[in-house]
Amino acid sequence: RLVLAIESSCDETSVAVVEDGNKILSNIVASQVLSHQRFGGVVPEVASRHHVEQIISCLDEALVEAKVTVEELSAVAVTEGPGLVGALLIGLSAAKAFAFANGLPLIPVNHMAGHIYAARFVEEMQFPLMALLVSGGHTELVYMPADGEFEIIGETRDDAAGEAYDKVGRVLGLKYPSGKEIDEMAHIGQDVYHFPRAMIKEDHYDFSFSGLKSSFINRVHNAEQKGEELSKVDLAASFQASVVEVLVNKTVRACQNFEVKQLIVAGGVAANQGLRNAMTETMQQQLPDVKVIFPPLKLCGDNAAMIGSAAFAAISKEQTADMYLNATPSLILGE
Ligand code: ATP
Ligand code: MG
Ligand code: FE
Repeated sequence: RLVLAIESSCDETSVAVVEDGNKILSNIVASQVLSHQRFGGVVPEVASRHHVEQIISCLDEALVEAKVTVEELSAVAVTEGPGLVGALLIGLSAAKAFAFANGLPLIPVNHMAGHIYAARFVEEMQFPLMALLVSGGHTELVYMPADGEFEIIGETRDDAAGEAYDKVGRVLGLKYPSGKEIDEMAHIGQDVYHFPRAMIKEDHYDFSFSGLKSSFINRVHNAEQKGEELSKVDLAASFQASVVEVLVNKTVRACQNFEVKQLIVAGGVAANQGLRNAMTETMQQQLPDVKVIFPPLKLCGDNAAMIGSAAFAAISKEQTADMYLNATPSLILGE
């Protein structure tokens, strides 16, 4: 079965053709990152316009690269939320038009479910499993008792992990988004500033990153006032050490308490090498029977292939939508 998938929730226009939920025939990603960089973040109106300009050529290219004709497709999958409403609407309109014109079923997909299913391109999912979702807008622990079933057991109470990376990066004078660069700097530096590990001992699965961000900013400002020179790589290493320790600690505890078979770490921040190393090592020590899966690096960020994969769980449950399908900017996993 072949699914055409469309993703446009933020600043990537992407169209993919996915076979049976685990094979990528094509995955075209048009990133707008350069257009948003000078604003230090994604500008919603600029994002929508880029999506309008890019979507048709991405669609054509995805079919050509996959060497697939429209007649061979079984369904059209599209991100219905969460994301920027104007951006989502472009992908939705394209998906609806394509589905209607070709008589194909339309499958609405939650973007965060998509991030989790990116792991299916590495290994088949085995339930029950735990997923740590770490991205630009979300940080949550999701328990999946079965395919297509999601229970959020904990989430950030303020900033998302990726958001914290990007805000701290701005203070360091780095380009947006700065997660990757901070990750690279962190490997050179040392955790000498030892920032707080928020809620690490608390007996729940929620996170908080705004206190860490404030400590970081205060440390930098204090130094500036005193004319003290701080090491940027040590700042990066100290920040990353705090984020990683909290994420690993809470995730391992969740895997212990829920007796899962697999742990999937997904979303843009799952590309982080410090997180990958620490999570793999700690899980190996504490829960060697739980298989830890990270999507391939280029599938951690936003892409349509992951949406196509997640759609297969919806197809088996016959969760299709009609032409009234609307964007849901704050769509919540499992609701
Ligand atoms: P959401 O998925 O919550 O709607 P989003 O789609 O904007 O948000 P993603 O594209 O999944 O987020 O991830 C982007 C985020 O990942 C950015 O904040 C970016 O800084 C961060 N990121 C990317 N690579 C790394 C890395 N190596 N280390 C840390 N953060 C990273
Ligand atoms: Mg993006
Ligand atoms: Fe995302």
